[in-house]
Amino acid sequence: MSTPENDYDVIVIGGGGAGLAAAASAAERGRSVILFESEGELGGSTQLSAGMFTAAATSVQKALGVDDTVDRYFQHYMDLNQWLLKPGLVRRFCELAGPTLEWLLDLGVEVPAQVSSDAHTPGLTRAGVEDVWRAHVPKDQGYGLVQVLDRARKAAGVEAVLHTRVERLLVEDGRVRGVVADGVELRSGAVVVASGGLAQDPALVERWFPDALRAGDSLFVVAAPGSRGDHLVLGEQVGASVAGDGWGLMLPTAQFVRHHHWQAGFPPVSRVHVNPQGRRFMDEDASYAVSGGLIDAQGGPAWMVFDDAARRALPEGYADWTPSRVTEHVGTGAVVAAEDLSGLAERIGVPADHLLATVERWNDQLPYGSDVDFQRDQTLAAKGVTTPPAPIATPPFHATRVLPTELVCTHAGLEIDANAAVLDQRARPIPGLYAAGEAGGGVLGNRYVGGGNAVANALTLGRLAGQNAAATA
Ligand SMILES: Cc1cc2nc3c(=O)[nH]c(=O)nc-3n(C[C@H](O)[C@H](O)[C@H](O)COP(=O)(O)OP(=O)(O)OC[C@H]3O[C@@H](n4cnc5c(N)ncnc54)[C@H](O)[C@@H]3O)c2cc1C
Repeated sequence: MSTPENDYDVIVIGGGGAGLAAAASAAERGRSVILFESEGELGGSTQLSAGMFTAAATSVQKALGVDDTVDRYFQHYMDLNQWLLKPGLVRRFCELAGPTLEWLLDLGVEVPAQVSSDAHTPGLTRAGVEDVWRAHVPKDQGYGLVQVLDRARKAAGVEAVLHTRVERLLVEDGRVRGVVADGVELRSGAVVVASGGLAQDPALVERWFPDALRAGDSLFVVAAPGSRGDHLVLGEQVGASVAGDGWGLMLPTAQFVRHHHWQAGFPPVSRVHVNPQGRRFMDEDASYAVSGGLIDAQGGPAWMVFDDAARRALPEGYADWTPSRVTEHVGTGAVVAAEDLSGLAERIGVPADHLLATVERWNDQLPYGSDVDFQRDQTLAAKGVTTPPAPIATPPFHATRVLPTELVCTHAGLEIDANAAVLDQRARPIPGLYAAGEAGGGVLGNRYVGGGNAVANALTLGRLAGQNAAATA
């Protein structure tokens, strides 16, 4: 119920995962809520995502006999992020991610209690570096999550206003009192900023995530069009602190790829990644949590090497990884080809004897089902690959640069405390202002905790922000 001086109890800015979770949970507490979405449809990046959601001690894990606790999740999360995040906020997130997943299941999200070998088959999966399986893949992925949350929003009577980009906050005596959208002032008891990240604004990427620019001309952005960094403009108005400066998620791809892997297709399983010394340096299927950092740490170009049998075995129907597209890129120079490995080494500028030794060692191991160097056999097994990869042996041999090129999400958000309240420069909550998702800073760190760190952050903190905004209002 709004009060006489307020139009609504709670105003939510942004209709992606965080905003919908905030709106639904504030309305669950009997508050009047309105949500503004700048684009023509709800969903944002959440809708484009696999919807993978990382959480501990859930009913899905229990049904599969996976023994997990909030403490283990917290330890893993902080260790992977080298304890650069605030433990209080992260512990709260780890405590609430499981209950948020249960809330979603109650609302109608389907995560069957079955093992999934990828990010697209509903069930419980593993992204590669977590200590136990805790990546939950919902039916219909991010789209499915948005559909269920939107049904909850409608059922709770929350109006969603599309095509309306909130331009500023209403502030009185240091307290946030509402918003201005399309030149119209609307008053409320509390405001939740859930406007997503900044990946679609090149100037903001340069300022807040300059590492992304190391991809040069190969950089491409898959985040939703509304990811324009409006949270920073709104936060600046009230002197909000920003957390997550310099961090975001870049996925490594081949230099010529320009699409998310669902459209791009997948590189050959029989491939080896080598550094400027021609040495193998990683599990080629390593999780996002570590793969970008590993490639960056090589001090020069990293290359993906595969043979012609692997190229010919690529399935048709994808945008980038097909036999003919690879050959086309031999023409553009983005793929280098040579009749033998020595010639290939010369063309990519790595020592030929090293490359020959690397491929020989790989051929002696992976085709026989083991990888004593990087344990890739275990990653392949978790992905459901049942036959060992073929040797890299059929000319012509191919190489293409592999580097972090795909900008997925950004982590520079308005700093929040463990109540999802936005903090000022002196770490004091700004009255009436909450933030969540990519717009809220502090949970997403320098390492993506896979799989499903960002969706879990959006929905868990979105729900918390909605609950606390409702309580404040
Ligand atoms: C292709 C892809 C796959 C991904 N897969 C996964 C995955 O499987 N697991 C995972 O954890 N993460 C994944 N991510 C990242 C994850 O989806 C996002 O970080 C998360 O969903 C962001 O949620 P959000 O609510 O903060 O932002 P969004 O979902 O982007 O929602 C923000 C909304 O706010 C709107 N908006 C912006 N400014 C304004 C304004 N001024 N006024 C009104 N509305 C505004 C936007 O249009 C948008 O709809 C993926 C991302 C992409 C792009």
